[in-house]
Amino acid sequence: MVAMRKPDHKLIFIIVEHYENKPKAIVFELAACADKIKKVCPAEIKFIILGMETEKLSFEITRTTGLDAIAIEINELALYNSEIYKMVINNLAAEFLPSFIIIGHTPRGLDFASGLAVRMKAAFITGVEDLMEEGEKIYFKRQMFYGKINAHIAANSEPLIITVQPGIFEPYKPDKTSPGKVETRRVEYFPEFIRAKGIRRCKYQDSSISEAKVIVSAGNGIEEKKNLDLIYKLADIFPGSAVGGSRILIDRGWLEYRQQIGLTGAQVAPELYIACGISGASQHLAGMRKSGFVVAINRDPKAAIFNESDVSVIEDLNKFIPAFLEEYEKRKI
Ligand SMILES: Cc1cc2nc3c(=O)[nH]c(=O)nc-3n(C[C@H](O)[C@H](O)[C@H](O)COP(=O)(O)OP(=O)(O)OC[C@H]3O[C@@H](n4cnc5c(N)ncnc54)[C@H](O)[C@@H]3O)c2cc1C
Repeated sequence: MVAMRKPDHKLIFIIVEHYENKPKAIVFELAACADKIKKVCPAEIKFIILGMETEKLSFEITRTTGLDAIAIEINELALYNSEIYKMVINNLAAEFLPSFIIIGHTPRGLDFASGLAVRMKAAFITGVEDLMEEGEKIYFKRQMFYGKINAHIAANSEPLIITVQPGIFEPYKPDKTSPGKVETRRVEYFPEFIRAKGIRRCKYQDSSISEAKVIVSAGNGIEEKKNLDLIYKLADIFPGSAVGGSRILIDRGWLEYRQQIGLTGAQVAPELYIACGISGASQHLAGMRKSGFVVAINRDPKAAIFNESDVSVIEDLNKFIPAFLEEYEKRKI
């Protein structure tokens, strides 16, 4: 059994995201966020692991982090089901009274977090990128208006549910190496409204985007589909390069889904990332933030992408890229 919480300590739940019995990388970033909260107010941290069989997963997570976990085994969770997640986490919260529930700002997390907040009547802050103590309160930083403004938001009530942007917090490294404890419960729950039927894998298993040393990415700023030619020409001058894009271009069918960079696309870390006509929305940044060197071309000097770029080109890309290619042709050896 997991020891009861000290009365003067708050409790933090981290909802574990996993696939094929392996924790997703975001889990350890959420633990780092929880640890930062703990440094501001004394707290106990517990992972909540939901699945059909959780033993291997629980062992891996508690061993790597030294933190405790509550594992809930449910036969109906052979496949992820948001209805079960909401129901079970709500029940656990009623029992343990956590002050914070931390969830990944990922497609999976976003699928159940808002519904959970409604069900629990909890305060809810999405897309958290950092936190700080001011006075008696903890403020959570999140972007607004496509990254042009950073808002610092505090909740007036508990519990507070937050979703945390992937790729922001460095994965948690524990001080101690002894594994955390696991309390495993077996529960039966038959979902009333949602039935998961299976997983259909993406048609493309192309890894060129994730392996490319240079990525030239196109955004809404290219304006017309024919201007993609410019992007492909620019990519052509770099060996080992690939063309990516923001979600808008994928939604329009101008690029394929495997080329989408971002929260709901590929997470990439090339040596060079060239963002062409991309505003720098947090969902896009989530996919390219680990790039080595970033060049951004945007005609808006206040575009949020410039907060991430090493070289900022404030210019119309339809003028700049042809001029750059022309100059390159003249100078190439
Ligand atoms: C749940 C969720 C998940 C999402 N997942 C993703 C994701 O995985 N990846 C992703 O990219 N987005 C994702 N999005 C969408 C994201 O919020 C933004 O809408 C999207 O990234 C914006 O794309 P953009 O920067 O190309 O377009 P815009 O925001 O429209 O920006 C276009 C930019 O181009 C500039 N521009 C315009 N014309 C020119 C020109 N001629 N020359 C130079 N610059 C020019 C403008 O100044 C502007 O900054 C997601 C959204 C949600 C809600």
